[in-house]
Amino acid sequence: MTDTPHQNLAIIGHVDHGKSTLVGRLLFETGSVPEHIIEQHRKEAEEKGKGGFEFAYVMDNLAEERERGLTIDIAHQEFTTDTYDFTIVDCPGHRDFVKNMITGASQADNAVLVVAADDGVAPQTQEHVFLARTLGIDELIVGINKMDIVDYDEDRFRAVVEEVKQLFNQVRFDTEDASFIPISAFEGDNIAEPSDNTPWYNGRTLLEALNDLPAPEPPTDAPLRLPIQDVYTISGIGTVPVGRVETGVLNTGDSVSFRPSDVGGEVKTIEMHHEEVPTAEPGDNVGFNVRGIGKDDIRRGDVCGPADDPPSVAETFQAQIVVMQHPSVITPGYTPVFHAHTAQVAGTIESLDKKMDPSSGEVAEENPDYIEAGDAAVVTVRPQKPLSIEPSDEIPELGSFAIRDMGQTVAAGKVLAVSEK
Ligand code: GDP
Repeated sequence: MTDTPHQNLAIIGHVDHGKSTLVGRLLFETGSVPEHIIEQHRKEAEEKGKGGFEFAYVMDNLAEERERGLTIDIAHQEFTTDTYDFTIVDCPGHRDFVKNMITGASQADNAVLVVAADDGVAPQTQEHVFLARTLGIDELIVGINKMDIVDYDEDRFRAVVEEVKQLFNQVRFDTEDASFIPISAFEGDNIAEPSDNTPWYNGRTLLEALNDLPAPEPPTDAPLRLPIQDVYTISGIGTVPVGRVETGVLNTGDSVSFRPSDVGGEVKTIEMHHEEVPTAEPGDNVGFNVRGIGKDDIRRGDVCGPADDPPSVAETFQAQIVVMQHPSVITPGYTPVFHAHTAQVAGTIESLDKKMDPSSGEVAEENPDYIEAGDAAVVTVRPQKPLSIEPSDEIPELGSFAIRDMGQTVAAGKVLAVSEK
């Protein structure tokens, strides 16, 4: 283990704009692909008469799925820069990206938005920026990619930057918190070294921008919140819930409670990476065993917390949502599925309390009759089954959700207040 601080990084952007290629490039430039793998691929390629530059081998290595015509699996790749250990968390292109982005497993601290210079802002660019902003990504680095295709043209770069800034304004993402870099993931321009092809650009390279990201503050001071992903039975140990510590600290000997299942006990053992550990911190994926808890007592979607400060269970909650897409209008009574941490629960939007002006954040209308795509609103939700969720200003990690319906993300939101039974 190193002491280098860790960052979970999401790579977002429209399909084919170059996300996988950029990840390959980052792995390559940071020396994160073991030499023997590069060697092996170099040999193979030479044998097949496909000699080329080493970067292509990295891409091959990442591209097992490409042959099957699927998106390259770039999630969970890791690379280390001067400042941070980066893990690429779940990436768009994955069918479940939107869902995963809101489950604990893939919470990103920061994100790189890839926008192809020839294409500009495209539908998924919008969707991902919107989600990043709603779900609390702190800072966006924008790579205007494929600059080689547009002959490294400064005017084209500026035009795309303007398009992206407009989009940021629309979703009220602070452009102060974004930097724009002309890159070519394929050719390597402005990734590790300033490029001679863009003499008009004297800003940071992508790696410099990554190094300069603010360090995420581990939420160890907050109470323990550990959403349960799965529950296993392991012989010799017993029932083992697994999940990621979102906030707080889990120690052996702690007295914990699972909500909404409402059972609890003392933590006997904690296991991480197949080793027993005395304690687990935010970001740690653990399996643990709690005295007296059976497999059927708890389930995915439960949240584990301290017995004396247990997770909240909402009878209703008030939330700020932004509607991304909906074929018609949303009226009180609408009951889509709410995805929050590892839970998926149908919930009824009981009342539309306020409609907000998205450009100013001011209240535009009290108790509107309906809301539609593009609207921001404060609503009251009644989960149809018990749901553990927290006000986002108290525990942001457990305070956001996405609303899905008919295979689409309809809206995303943040919890303002929880009213418990
Ligand atoms: P993703 O769907 O966003 O992951 O996009 P990919 O990384 O799979 O890239 C889509 C296509 O664009 C592939 O054919 C890449 O080789 C190509 N591509 C990616 N980055 C660049 C670039 O900087 N320049 C050029 N010319 N092509 C690129």
